[in-house]
Amino acid sequence: MAVKFVYDFEEGNRDMKYLLGGKGANLAEMTRMGLPVPHGFTVTCEACNAYRSAGRQFPDGMLEEVAEHLEQLERGMGRRLGDPGDPLLVSVRSGAPFSMPGMMDSVLNLGLNDQSVEGLTKQTGSERFAWDSYRRLLQMYGRTVMGVEGHRFEEALEHAKEAKGVRNDVELDAGDLRRLVEEFKAIIAADTGREFPQDPREQLHLGIEAVFGSWDNRRAVDYRRKNKIDDSLGTAVNIQAMVFGNKGEDSGTGVAFTRNPANGDPHPYGDYLVNAQGEDVVSGIRNTMKLEEMGGVQPRAWEELQGHLGTLEGHYRDMCDVEFTVEQGKLWLLQTRVGKRTAFAEWIMAHDMHNEGLIDLDTALLRLDANRLEELFKKVIASGAGAEPIATGLNASPGAAVGKAVFSADDAQAWATRGEPVILVRRETTPDDYHGMIRSQGVLTSAGGTNSHAAVVARGEGIPAVCGADAIRVDRQARRFSVDGTTVAEGDWVTIDGFTGRVYAGQLGLADSPIERARSGDPEARKEKIWQAYERFMARADEVRRLKVRANADTPGQSGNAIERGAEGIGLCRTEHMFLGEERVAAVRRMIFADSAAEEQAAYDVLLPLQRDDFVGIFQAMDAKPVTVRLLDPPLHEFLPDQVELAVAVALAKERGRSEVEVGGDEAMALDEAEQMLAKVNDLHEANPMLGLRGVRLGIFKPGLYAMQVRAICEAAAKVKAEGGDPVVEIMIPLAATREELAQVREELEPVARQTLEEKGQEVAVLWGTMIELPRAALVAGEIAEVAEFFSFGTNDLTQTAFGFSRDDIGKFLGLYEERKLVPANPFVTVDQPGVGRLMRIAAEEGRQTRPTLKLGICGEHGGDPDSVRFCHTLGLDYVSCSPFRVPTARLAAGQAALGEATTASK
Ligand code: PEP
Ligand code: MG
Repeated sequence: MAVKFVYDFEEGNRDMKYLLGGKGANLAEMTRMGLPVPHGFTVTCEACNAYRSAGRQFPDGMLEEVAEHLEQLERGMGRRLGDPGDPLLVSVRSGAPFSMPGMMDSVLNLGLNDQSVEGLTKQTGSERFAWDSYRRLLQMYGRTVMGVEGHRFEEALEHAKEAKGVRNDVELDAGDLRRLVEEFKAIIAADTGREFPQDPREQLHLGIEAVFGSWDNRRAVDYRRKNKIDDSLGTAVNIQAMVFGNKGEDSGTGVAFTRNPANGDPHPYGDYLVNAQGEDVVSGIRNTMKLEEMGGVQPRAWEELQGHLGTLEGHYRDMCDVEFTVEQGKLWLLQTRVGKRTAFAEWIMAHDMHNEGLIDLDTALLRLDANRLEELFKKVIASGAGAEPIATGLNASPGAAVGKAVFSADDAQAWATRGEPVILVRRETTPDDYHGMIRSQGVLTSAGGTNSHAAVVARGEGIPAVCGADAIRVDRQARRFSVDGTTVAEGDWVTIDGFTGRVYAGQLGLADSPIERARSGDPEARKEKIWQAYERFMARADEVRRLKVRANADTPGQSGNAIERGAEGIGLCRTEHMFLGEERVAAVRRMIFADSAAEEQAAYDVLLPLQRDDFVGIFQAMDAKPVTVRLLDPPLHEFLPDQVELAVAVALAKERGRSEVEVGGDEAMALDEAEQMLAKVNDLHEANPMLGLRGVRLGIFKPGLYAMQVRAICEAAAKVKAEGGDPVVEIMIPLAATREELAQVREELEPVARQTLEEKGQEVAVLWGTMIELPRAALVAGEIAEVAEFFSFGTNDLTQTAFGFSRDDIGKFLGLYEERKLVPANPFVTVDQPGVGRLMRIAAEEGRQTRPTLKLGICGEHGGDPDSVRFCHTLGLDYVSCSPFRVPTARLAAGQAALGEATTASK
């Protein structure tokens, strides 16, 4: 049977989003629900993909199907497309399986031409309306389908208003608009060398092509890359009978959310614009009224809308957003979907909907996006800052932000690349500003509502935004904005508060979020709903998760931080940081330079008590919780001055006849000492230090070093134990590749541990293990497990060595690799399951075959990445370990992994 490329709204449902796109599937669902949706049909994503793969050729049979469905639509509406007497007008809108707001093209009022515009005049009794509709079609069609630069039309429109001495589009009369239509047609012809097509079917076909083509435009491609949307999905095209919100004061258009997408408040929320078409709301060209004020102008439609919002939320069991139009008092729903929301609102809504009995607790928990949990911890403006706002706009996306004002997306990108925090200030943003928005700390606009492009994108990206601060005059050319006598120029500091909509000149101090405050015991913050939601969902995640969550922490302070966030141990205590600081570096250098065992020992004698004290603090902080201490890992040259800097400094001192040499921040050295140092540095120099003398190799090369560390760990454990504490010690040897490396080092170190504990008269169990961070280690894990009681996957090094990508240099080409889809995602962020993940699976399985009690964990950065946590759950690891700040994220992801598994199993 031939493939079906076109579906009537009556034929689909909400589960068909991969075929019909999200918009098409939901239009079909609303049609089935009997809601007032204008008739229409959807050309499938499959058709788009067939078109793209055939080199921009419609697939066979598609246009015939479009013609049939169009006829059906014409019959249903009792009007024909392009009919000179009584024309049907349609909208042509993109609609991909996942929402990509404003990234692709749409055209309204299609079907108008030089004849049918007269028919529309007759149909509506308004010449002005007809000509305004025609000029809108030319403007949208010219830009999106024919590729004319949008500003050409805007300038002509501005010009027409100036010439007439009016400010608003609505003040232009039919004659003015008729002239504008001629002007717009001339612009199209001049800029493209082609006339605007008068044949409505040609308009429609080109419109469909333009939507298909817009799947591959730059901003859509950028958006997909950032949001990890598959390029191969394609977009559907929805063709729908037009209804008009711009037929006078009894008409209007708006966007409504069933609940507030910014703060989760359980009441309808949105914008309404009287006498306007849909694009006027989203483009932020005119300022809107609040949704609830619609009741004052359109009481019946408002009543009906509230009813439909309730029906939709009950049906979808989630917050929905709706685009709607009121045409001469009659309400039409043009689109719905499960609405985007801030992380803050997501938690509040899940909490409320569960309380309301709309969803069960685990469904609510599974709805939370673990990747966005950190947004709940977003900063707010420090109270008591005492500053007066210079303006107030809408609280379009939460979080406070401070940065230097910039006035174009390109500048935002350039400044951010230089490391400058920026606030992007615009009258309104368009999809072309996306690249600059995502590099900004915050976005401020003077026009547009809470559903303007700026607001939608900022919320999606977790960027604070204040929109529609209409007291502000933005002068893009002069790169400044002014408000009530205050001028903020490019590079001046601005602070915005996306929670309240306030804008401040200058650099205000920011403070912790309510959750942070609640956690540190603030009783007021503990009363807030967000804290209650947080506590409830985290408790449930903790109850169901199988994975333990530990933290990577090297100091007592970090350990305390980790515990506060729910860490159940330390999965990685990197001891290299304990070798830093003036006194310690000096001793480390003495150890490196030692000519005799005695000299080396003297250096260890300095280091040992310092290290012991560090461990005491950590064991105390982590009482009764496991602490995995990793013996020294980095190459020794990291504790010496940089080779090139030192060589240059020595050469300069010699040339200038100086007796002292200064390198970096170090104290001055005598020239002969510096020369000796240089000789040693040269001696230790390695072409590939990451593959050089580091990890367990150090333990073999300098056995006294690891012995000193083990002694310090055990002395600390004995001391804490003697004081009534309960230290749980795990000693981890890094970067082993063979069983023998580990066996030998362990053979040397175990007696040191035993002896130390005996000397101190304390019994403390010590677990010995290794990191699996080399492909060979993963492949021979069965052997390694003979001499290791635990494995911790060092996925940073494992990724580096499996791919052969230097973790320190990947930034140079990773962007290109992601763009060309040469890697599915950044493998240093999310475990690459087919490669690195496979090595992990082999190591886990074969290690446990040898030693069924083998403890398994992960301590690379991936331990805090939700997708990787889920993967670790499926591997059956015992724990993940991540930075203290990501501990809540890992707890949530681990709970969701367990629940997800249960849900799948019960299906
Ligand atoms: C790792 O390699 O994943 C790891 C945790 O060790 P480090 O990052 O210290 O090399
Ligand atoms: Mg490592």
